[in-house]
Amino acid sequence: MWSNGEILHYITTRDRGEEEALFAAARKVREEQYGLDVYFRGLIEFTNHCKNDCFYCGIRRSGPGVERYRLSPARILDCCRVGAGLGFKTFVLQGGEDPWFTDERLLGLVRAIRAEFPDHAITLSLGERSRESYRALFQAGANRYLLRHETANEAHYAALHPPETRLSERKRCLYTLREIGYQVGAGFMVGTPFQTPQCLLEDLRFLQELEPHMVGIGPFIPAAGTPFADQPPGDIHLTLRMVALTRLLLPRVLLPATTALGTLSGDGRERALMAGANVVMPNLSPREVRELYSLYDNKICTGDEAAECVRCMSLRVRASGFVPNLGARGDSLVPGAEGPGKAAAPGEGERAPARIAIPVP
Ligand code: SF4
Repeated sequence: MWSNGEILHYITTRDRGEEEALFAAARKVREEQYGLDVYFRGLIEFTNHCKNDCFYCGIRRSGPGVERYRLSPARILDCCRVGAGLGFKTFVLQGGEDPWFTDERLLGLVRAIRAEFPDHAITLSLGERSRESYRALFQAGANRYLLRHETANEAHYAALHPPETRLSERKRCLYTLREIGYQVGAGFMVGTPFQTPQCLLEDLRFLQELEPHMVGIGPFIPAAGTPFADQPPGDIHLTLRMVALTRLLLPRVLLPATTALGTLSGDGRERALMAGANVVMPNLSPREVRELYSLYDNKICTGDEAAECVRCMSLRVRASGFVPNLGARGDSLVPGAEGPGKAAAPGEGERAPARIAIPVP
């Protein structure tokens, strides 16, 4: 069990040798748990309408000049077909909190995807909804749900969101999703305005308490037209150290090498893989809408066709010394990953917790 002091030491260290040792330890743990495989998720960003107004977000409700789009359920299903044709076993449906997507419409969509792709994993990322809605979507065939907590510190959360958006509600949703039986993905941004090392420590402690199946960690990147447009982006080294610390503290989680890391630094995703990440999410959204899903400025991978994204990511994964595994669902090793359409994933099963050997700070 790491003490708060030890964790804070690695959050704040500027010693590159120590940082490399941290990354090596995280890589070792990831290899002991998941081997060298990197799992692929097909990302479909299906709406940039959102009723919320998070201060950091480029598609927030009051964002000026945002050209809005919404894919029809039929179009989303087409994207899944393209993804399945390329070999994907997981679809991630991500969007803003768009009231047009009522439970009725979403249930019809999830049922249609489940009927056509009985063995695929269906991941939803639709924000905060009621327990009844989460349950109905799960029963309709969804397996996973991504909902980043963004920051586990109450005061920090209030500095990043308007008053109608509350950390307590975000946490309620995450625990509800876990209880219903979803594979749950939480996560946070590194380098948001007002963030302190203590906030990041609280993020890690919250994750240990929640025990999510996935953790998405990306650097803060400012978005034009938001209150934080002039703020500096998050630091790549600190973001990577948070990826590594998450791998060490929660050995069995799935950890994406996020697009935001690749946006901040050309080799950011490769460096995340070297720091313990084991998932990538190529984009399956139609090319003409990709640029419109701009949560932050200068987002990469908006121009290529889905097949090109897959080829590019496979090359990057191989070049980093890992094995692209497009054909597996890549379910989490964290207990409680059962659900609709569950299929055995390569390397799945109980393994002994990894021993961590890094220099004591
Ligand atoms: S971060 Fe999510 S919930 Fe907040 S404004 Fe952006 S899309 Fe909406």
